[in-house]
Formats: sequence, structure tokens, C-alpha cells
Amino acid sequence: MNSRWNAISWNRLLGAKLAGILLSATLLATLIVVGVPGFAQEGQREARGRRVNEKVKPFKIIGNVYYVGMSDQTVLLITTPEGNILIDSTYERMVPWIRESIETLGYSMRDIKILLNSHAHPDHVEGHSLIKELTGAQVVMSEADGEVLASGGVDPGQGDGRPRYKPVKPDRIIRNGDQVTLGGVTLTAHVFPGHTRGATTWTMVVEENGRRYNVVFWGGIGGIRQPFVNNTEWPTIVEEYTDTLRRAKALPCDIYTGTHGAGFGLLDKMRRLEQGEQPNPFYDPEECRSSIERRERDFREQLERERAVAR
Ligand SMILES: [Zn+2]
Repeated sequence: MNSRWNAISWNRLLGAKLAGILLSATLLATLIVVGVPGFAQEGQREARGRRVNEKVKPFKIIGNVYYVGMSDQTVLLITTPEGNILIDSTYERMVPWIRESIETLGYSMRDIKILLNSHAHPDHVEGHSLIKELTGAQVVMSEADGEVLASGGVDPGQGDGRPRYKPVKPDRIIRNGDQVTLGGVTLTAHVFPGHTRGATTWTMVVEENGRRYNVVFWGGIGGIRQPFVNNTEWPTIVEEYTDTLRRAKALPCDIYTGTHGAGFGLLDKMRRLEQGEQPNPFYDPEECRSSIERRERDFREQLERERAVAR
């Protein structure tokens, strides 16, 4: 594994970091002039369009599940005695942030053995190529999103048909219900077509203080950017997404995360967890269920609207 952690990778990482610092310095100067409130420290914040990505302190969600992402994009680290599992890589320029978060927790990038993902959009997988290069981790993906990853993000019906990031060929293709096991830890894949054709939600059971919790890492359930009616690229989208929602609602869910912090109240729950709130503020079966029900309502309304237009 050490040989993979070679000089080229370090230089690349360092380059990305330097570029990040330069970008941050420019941003800082701009922000000082513009005077945006809440700006913390140089290199801690990145604004792109409406989304703002701030560095957040990495923390333990529960058991062996850690948050090592940003305020917007989620990255999860699942530790085991035989190495660790990472879910999502975000943008390539964020990889140094992820690395820092992992190291702050006392772990090493080199211990990442398996790289999982939510779905193959650039904001969640652009960093896959660099993380794969740095760690040699096994890249595991669903068939549909694996094809997108291998093409560098070319996804029929989404984007302009051109590659959007460095392609990576998955090492292992999983189907719905398949499991990934490492060091006594098992994650189950739920392939939930909708946000992308191969969007994958991962579930696991975590034990803490003698209690077992069903943990769900939602991999993109709503926010469909494709038409439901007359979708020639994906004619079965309505049937497939209906089935996704049915299966998603049936998942036992005590603790959950989503792909973007705002979607699961990350900053608020983080703050409450830090204050020692009991039970763990990430424990929220009610909200887990109602968030899927909201998606279902959105879907029905969107479908109605599109059908009305098509008539
Ligand atoms: Zn997405």
C-alpha cells in the first residue's frame, strides 16, 4: 500500500492543497471587501453559487461511524479493525480537507480499503480518482452508476454528454441487496433509481451502549432532474422511482444521513451532539420516515403537473 502512496500522489495532493489555498486567499480577499458575515478562517469556506461549503470539525455520529465531510457535501468514514470504509469523495479539491478530517480523528488515509458512493454526480465522486490513487481502495458501485463513473460522468439524460471528471473503473459492481464486509462490519446496498439510475443507499446496524441502531446513509432519493412523462432516455423512470419510494419507506431507520448536510439538519444536529444531547440527535426515526413521505408527495405533484401539460 505504501508504494501507492508515492511522490506523485503527494505532489498532486500538495498541488491541490496549494490551489485550494490560493483559491481560499482570493475568496478571503473578496469576502473581506464584500463583508460576508460568519466567515471563519482562511481555507475554511468555499462558496459556489447558492451552496456554501464550510469546513466542519470531524466527529463521531455513532459507534464506528464518523462524519469527515463538509457543511454541504457528506463524507462518511466507517472504521473496522481491518481498515476503513469511505462513502463518497466529493470534489477532487476537497480531498485534502477530507484527509485532514480523517487525520484529526486519528485515522489514516492509507487505511481506507473500500470506497463506496451515494451516486455518480461530480459533487460526490469527482475525488474518487485521487482517493483511489492515494489509497488503492477498492471502488464499489452499482452497475448503472459504475458505468457513469467509468465514463467520467457521462450520463444520458443528464449533463451535456461530455465527461465531467476523471474516469474510474469500479473494482466491484454491486446489485441491490448485495453486501460489503470488512473487519466484521457489514453494509447492505439498496439501489434506488431516481436521482440517478444507480443511486445507492447504504445501511448498517451499529451497536452503542448495548443498543442496536439501524443506520441509513441515503444516497440521493429526491431531487429528480429528469422528466417523468415522455422520458425517451429513461422510459421506465416512473415505475422504477415508484418502486424506489416503496422500498425506501420500508427500510428500518433509526439514524440517517443524506448526501447534503442541509437535507438532514447536519449543522444543528452536530451542535446538539456536541452539547451532549441525549438521545443522540441523529436518532430520528420519525423524521427519517417523513422525509421519504415528502419525497413521495413531491413526486406525485410533479407527475400530475407533467401529465396535465402533456394532455
Ligand atoms: Zn446529485
